Amino acid sequence: MFLVELTQPVSQVRGVGPAVNRSLGTLGIHTIKDLLTHFPRGYEDRLSPVALKEGKTGKPVNTLVRVIAHDYFGYGRKRTLKVWVEDETARGTLVCFGRNFLAQKLVIGEEFYLYGTFTYRHGELQSGTFDVEKPGDPSQSFGRILPLYPLTEGLSHKVMRKIISYALKMYGKNVEEELPSTLPGAKNFPEKGQALEWIHFPLTFQEMKAARDRFIFEELFFLQLMVGRRSFARKGSQRERRECHGRIMEKVVENLHFTLTKDQERSLAQIREDLAADRPMGRLLQGDVGSGKTLVAFLAATLVIEGGKQVAFMAPTELLARQHADNAAKMLEPLGIRTAFLSGNLQDKNRKPLLSALEEGEVDLLIGTHALFSRDVSFKNLGLSIVDEQHRFGVLQRLALMEKGKQPDLLLMTATPIPRTLTLTLFGDLDVSTIKTMPPGRLPVETHLTRHGNESKVYNWIREELDRGRQAYFVYPLIQRSEKSRLKDAEGMYHHLSETVFPDYRLGLIHSRLKEENKRKIMEAFVQGRIQLLVSTSVVEVGVDVANATCMVIEHAERFGLSALHQLRGRVGRGKQKSFAFLLYTEPMTDEARQRIMIMKDTSDGFKIAEKDLKIRGPGDLAGKQQSGFLRLQIADLIRDYHVLLKAREDAFSLVEKDPGLLSPDNRGLRHVLTCCPPFEESFLAGV
Ligand code: ADP
Ligand code: MG
Repeated sequence: MFLVELTQPVSQVRGVGPAVNRSLGTLGIHTIKDLLTHFPRGYEDRLSPVALKEGKTGKPVNTLVRVIAHDYFGYGRKRTLKVWVEDETARGTLVCFGRNFLAQKLVIGEEFYLYGTFTYRHGELQSGTFDVEKPGDPSQSFGRILPLYPLTEGLSHKVMRKIISYALKMYGKNVEEELPSTLPGAKNFPEKGQALEWIHFPLTFQEMKAARDRFIFEELFFLQLMVGRRSFARKGSQRERRECHGRIMEKVVENLHFTLTKDQERSLAQIREDLAADRPMGRLLQGDVGSGKTLVAFLAATLVIEGGKQVAFMAPTELLARQHADNAAKMLEPLGIRTAFLSGNLQDKNRKPLLSALEEGEVDLLIGTHALFSRDVSFKNLGLSIVDEQHRFGVLQRLALMEKGKQPDLLLMTATPIPRTLTLTLFGDLDVSTIKTMPPGRLPVETHLTRHGNESKVYNWIREELDRGRQAYFVYPLIQRSEKSRLKDAEGMYHHLSETVFPDYRLGLIHSRLKEENKRKIMEAFVQGRIQLLVSTSVVEVGVDVANATCMVIEHAERFGLSALHQLRGRVGRGKQKSFAFLLYTEPMTDEARQRIMIMKDTSDGFKIAEKDLKIRGPGDLAGKQQSGFLRLQIADLIRDYHVLLKAREDAFSLVEKDPGLLSPDNRGLRHVLTCCPPFEESFLAGV
């Protein structure tokens, strides 16, 4: 068992007061274990000295300097201390903005350790961001490797280092080894407790690397253990063949005011075959934004419901889930299918009756957010789990949904294609259907790049579109103005646009901090055309489907990732009218941002965009978090660590094969492994 202490609240750690506790919470750190596994995103090398003159190259300098003079510039409150320092190789100045008190510490003639980044300007090597320490001082931030952590407001590296070091001292010895020592891949790793020390406070870079390698392997091993279990379970499972008449399906199709595309038909035929087979379906349905995946999923659902079973349909945002639920109700209720909507925001008085109806089998199709796999949700007879925008969910969340039934069929949908190598590794046991062709009559979205400063041209264009009866989205990177950045924000721009630019039009504002009830009303008004121009954040990124909206304006497009840009653009071009996307950008931009925007201009094919995205982002940085976009890992990176993934897979699969007992739900050993394993959420265990 994971020792109880480690699952205690992080507030028990010395140095974690209410304010720090709150900040840790926003980083997702709630328990002592979370804190111990909050791994550094990088390190500052204060071990190896670098001569001061190297500062000219722009890389950080770590050296011993002598103070030679003090100097001041500016007047009044702006009066600022400038300290001249030198080592054997160069002279430089330290500009002490807001730190004039350093005059007392940096005594002329004395020596100090210095760590800082310099710029070379007007023949002078100058630093405004630096750290100094007197040799022999107890503070110990020199002569070592310093961890740099993912931070948030209210937390500094200093505080983070302090509390993690306390936590390690107090609880580090309670950390138990969880990797089976017999694994060939895990042979030369340091023990877990040791590795934790080394990853946070390594004495050498070898220690750091050994520790990181270990945690990367561990994460991938447990991931593959899950994949292996699933794969093994499906292969070995048999079930009765099912009859799928498809009478309801035919009616739904009859009622449509369009016909299915060839690819939709083919995907549906494949799904239908799976559903009738004698082992559970595991299928990934990929298709670009707007290709009509939802309809295929609904039709698949009718097949299962007709066979007397229930269907769960999970979407990543409440907005999207609600939209699906509304559509399902319109399309399927008249044919006798009982649909329902569930989200975490549902009040108890509505939730309770819904859950008991579900358990009684009085709901056929339950649509909702991740609330679907909460502990208290149980189905009478779950036959099919559908997961929309599957890359938005953790692997475990998807698995948790499956565990709600007896080997339900599984249909995953995605508009973010997964590179082939990774598909094989992560979803090796899934079959894939692809929708390539778009519904007929769609015109490609015309994409324009516009530099900030020329907004008025774009705004005028939009005005004309609104006058033609169309609607528009305006998307911003921030909800509210922030002290720290000059980016435009949705709230501020909503006021500016409604008061100054579009005073005669009906505008709405939507973002994630609004109450769900308000979000729903606003979306409804937009769908019905009562709102003409919707100011928003990326909450509208996934799935939202309003055919009359023909304009997508993304301000600060340089701030959005490629897949977000592609998804956002996918919100328009859904009707018969010509649609437009305007990407407004601000200079200066990073090279990557420029490439992203150019790709958006040149390409509309989601598969090509995904490939290019991977190329630009390359193998990812040290932190490994999230870059893969479709799987949230803590330290491993599926692309960078691909060879480790293969090794971990081999070990995990042979373990599963040797010990099929691992598969049984009451296997305590596995339960232990899963409880200990960092990336696996509690919610999953509900199903194990
Ligand atoms: P995706 O989820 O694949 O991004 P959606 O399921 O949101 O796409 O579908 C986009 C829109 O296209 C929806 O309004 C849907 O009703 C419509 N649609 C789906 N299939 C067809 C079709 N065969 N012909 C015309 N329109 C279609
Ligand atoms: Mg969709």
